[in-house]
Formats: sequence, structure tokens, C-alpha cells
Amino acid sequence: GGLMIGLDIGGTKTRGIKVVGGEVQADLEVGSANVQNVSRETAAANLAELFAALDAGDAARVFAGSGGVDTEADADALAALIHPHAPRARVTVVHDSRLLLAAGRARTGVAVIAGTGSAAWGTNDAGEEARAGGWGYLLGDEGSGYWLGREAVRYSLHRMNLGLEPDDLTQALLASTDLAHPNELIALFHAPGTGRRYWAQRSRVVTEAADAGHVGARFMVDQAAHDLARMAAQVARQLDLEGPVILGSGLGMNVGRIQDGFRAGLAEQGITDVRILDRDPIFGTIELAADGGGGERVP
Ligand code: BGC
Repeated sequence: GGLMIGLDIGGTKTRGIKVVGGEVQADLEVGSANVQNVSRETAAANLAELFAALDAGDAARVFAGSGGVDTEADADALAALIHPHAPRARVTVVHDSRLLLAAGRARTGVAVIAGTGSAAWGTNDAGEEARAGGWGYLLGDEGSGYWLGREAVRYSLHRMNLGLEPDDLTQALLASTDLAHPNELIALFHAPGTGRRYWAQRSRVVTEAADAGHVGARFMVDQAAHDLARMAAQVARQLDLEGPVILGSGLGMNVGRIQDGFRAGLAEQGITDVRILDRDPIFGTIELAADGGGGERVP
């Protein structure tokens, strides 16, 4: 019983829900509190804002899923940032991919996050677990929003080097970044004011161009879908699972071409039980917290 706070801490935002007796009483969003992406100070400030807005100081339980939580030390560090805002609560911090499987109402299967970053994780009846990707934007994050945004920049720079005029994709990218010439993309990409979140948000330029028939953009989106399917298939194979494979988060839930390519890639591997998550991963915190979730803070 008592007040439960569920948190989903992604690369772009932190979403928090306040749950009493299974009922969601508040549902809010603040900036990222993911210590892989923002400073500890920014993470702490965003968490403070969220807990104040949720009026959650007397919470009995906090269940958080976060990107960038790869070791027990990562989970402990995040739990320590959360604890002052809910001093009486038992705090559990897990990797964000776990929320997705629970939000998909599955106990076993493979969860694939395609959001600002990307990751695949799964578990089977024997309690074994496996993972693919989720290494962060500097090491991987194939098929993520950031990856797509960066591909659009690389595409535009490559064409510039070839002496070609900006095409529809480059023009849309320039409009979206408020720049006059592709040459300026290099400095903007490395500028402190733009980060993975900014470039992940540019992925919309690519998915819209793909929908409008742009061949290069279609190639990028199909590559993203293919990479996500490859990650899911790796996890399924390691766990000897045929499904379900659940695709979620911003790109995964909203971009039809990613979903189609993902299904096609998995079908080639003989995996046909592929589902698109139909609610936000945050709602997985309700199931996981009710399951006990232990007192542990393991990723
Ligand atoms: C992070 C992962 C996370 C994924 C999806 C990646 O950038 O490194 O930990 O699971 O994004 O949020």
C-alpha cells in the first residue's frame, strides 16, 4: 500500500507517475535525469522539480527505470540522487529496458527501446537474461533517434564535399537547425548547446523525408530498423525465445517505416510474434513495483 512513484529516465526526458492503490493520480514530465547524458547537478535539479510537482515527499516506494544504468554503482548513484526527495521510500533502480517488457504485459520476451538511445533486453522462463546494444551514443545506439539525426548530418556533409546542392533532406535539416549552409553543421554538431537530445529530435526530419519518398532518408530509416531487428534477434537467440518481441519508445511507437522494417527483419529470422508497445514504458513501473522488485538496486 501507500504512495508509489514510478520514474522512466530516458535520454531526453524524465517521466514520473504518482500511483495510489493502483490508480495513477499524476503524470508529469521534466528534463532528463540520466547521468549518462546530463550532469549530476542537472539530474538532481530535474528530480527535485519532479518530486515537488508530484508532491511525493511521503512516498513509500520509488521504482525507477533509467538509461545509462549498467552497473550496481550506476544504480546506487541514481538511487542516492532520488532518495533525498522521498526519504521514507524504498528505492529501486533498474535499466530502462526492463520497464518496456512489463509495460507490454509480458513476463518473458525481448524488449527493444528505440528512443533517443537504443537497447534490447530480454528474459526467459529459466530466468536467464541477455542484452544487445544500449552502450550509449558514443559507442553505439544504432537505430536510435540520435543515430538517425547524426546520419542526416553526415549525409548532408558528404553531399557538400561532393559539390552537390542541398537536396530536400539537407534543406529540411538546415531549416530545422536554423542554419544557412551545410558547412555550419560541423560546428553546431560539436557545440555545447546541442547534445544527443537535440540531434535525436532531428530524426523527425529523416522520418518525414522518408515518408515523402526521399531515397537516402528511406535508406537510413531502413538501416535503423534493420539494426534494431538484429539486436532483438541476438537476444532472442541467446535466450532461446521465439517471442514476444516488443518494440517501444518514441521512434519505435510512432514511426511506421521503422515498425515495418523491424517486423520484416525479424521475420527473416523466423520471429513473428512482434508487438508494438501500446502504452508508455513508465506504466511498467506499476507491475514491477507490485511484484516486489526486491530491495535490490541491480541494473
Ligand atoms: C543507453 C542505454 C538505454 C538506451 C535507451 C542508451 O543511450 O546507453 O542504457 O537503455 O539508450 O534509453
